[in-house]
Amino acid sequence: MAGSKVFLIGPEEPWQEIDKLFSRSGIRDKIEAGDIVAIKLHFGELGNTRYIHPIFARKLVDLVKEAGGEPFLTDTTTLYRHTRETLFGYLETAARNGFTRETMGCPIIIADGLRGTNGEWVELASFSKFKRVKIAQSIYESDFLLSLAHITLHGIVGLAASIKNIAMGCATKETKLAMHASEAKPAYNEEKCTHCLRCIKICPGEAFYEEEGRIKYKAAKCVGCGECIACCPSGAITVPWGSLLAYDVQRGMVDGFKGVISIFGEKVGFINLGFDITPDCDCISRSSLPITPDIGIIASGDPLACDKASYDLVIGAPPYPGSEADKKGIKEGKDRIESLCPDAEPAKFWKLCQKMELGSLDYEVEVIR
Ligand code: SF4
Ligand code: SF4
Repeated sequence: MAGSKVFLIGPEEPWQEIDKLFSRSGIRDKIEAGDIVAIKLHFGELGNTRYIHPIFARKLVDLVKEAGGEPFLTDTTTLYRHTRETLFGYLETAARNGFTRETMGCPIIIADGLRGTNGEWVELASFSKFKRVKIAQSIYESDFLLSLAHITLHGIVGLAASIKNIAMGCATKETKLAMHASEAKPAYNEEKCTHCLRCIKICPGEAFYEEEGRIKYKAAKCVGCGECIACCPSGAITVPWGSLLAYDVQRGMVDGFKGVISIFGEKVGFINLGFDITPDCDCISRSSLPITPDIGIIASGDPLACDKASYDLVIGAPPYPGSEADKKGIKEGKDRIESLCPDAEPAKFWKLCQKMELGSLDYEVEVIR
């Protein structure tokens, strides 16, 4: 069996061939006149320069418009505290990184609302860990989902691309917290508390309360909404990162992905950008040297085939001179990913994705020229 069709613009070809990629991969034909098209991407963390270049996003906006769709560029706020934790902070970060209504020719919408909790619960017919996941409102209400993912290494799955972009990036804080922590409840360090009272005002479960002039936290009352983590100005409330094994996070991610795709059915497309493939994902606020030279642009209607093809291209490429991989003497092969992301279990992730029917691990590449 040939497997799913994956389309590739090699790194030596002009990136403008993305026009052909958009058509040949079938994405253009699936967009109907008047469809509201959510183009899901990561606008880059402040301080990181190796995120998706705005010219790619602008080109896709134009192509979606030509196909009759009404595009908007979108992402959700982060669980961790930095510049993208709130809607205002994220819009400011996106603008500083080059993404505005004026430069992109379409709205920039932070899909999970003012506080990162605005979304709809989606029940899953089959799941690995969660019976339901909460999907950010503006994505949930769209007609078509186009994933524009930057390929990077990732500490949990090995390689972050389409599946990670959709699975975590379309969820509200509530589902993000559940994906990352064993009990889906934040951790509290009273020593860091500056007594601003914001958590008490915001918490829907009344898990934070005042007692004898001190702020106390009763985890049993937490309903896992994730809001307090972003609202605490002192860093006293945090995600208990590391409370789960990578495979447990992978299981939650697969469910997140299934929840999103169940909304859209066939009205999806996946494009992976293989430029500046860094050892850390785009959430890091600094830039490292890429681990390989660029591998090009990969697209497919099958997200698993798209990501597996991207992974195989990355492990087949030589190390980038001076990169972490090069310094460690790691040549081609999966050792490079396993050595740079020691906790990730990519082989398990691929098997899990296949078992949960996200797509096919078999693929056939058509090179666009
Ligand atoms: S996650 Fe939500 S429910 Fe839990 S303590 Fe924080 S604000 Fe309260
Ligand atoms: S939001 Fe943070 S700093 Fe403010 S009272 Fe709550 S724990 Fe303390």
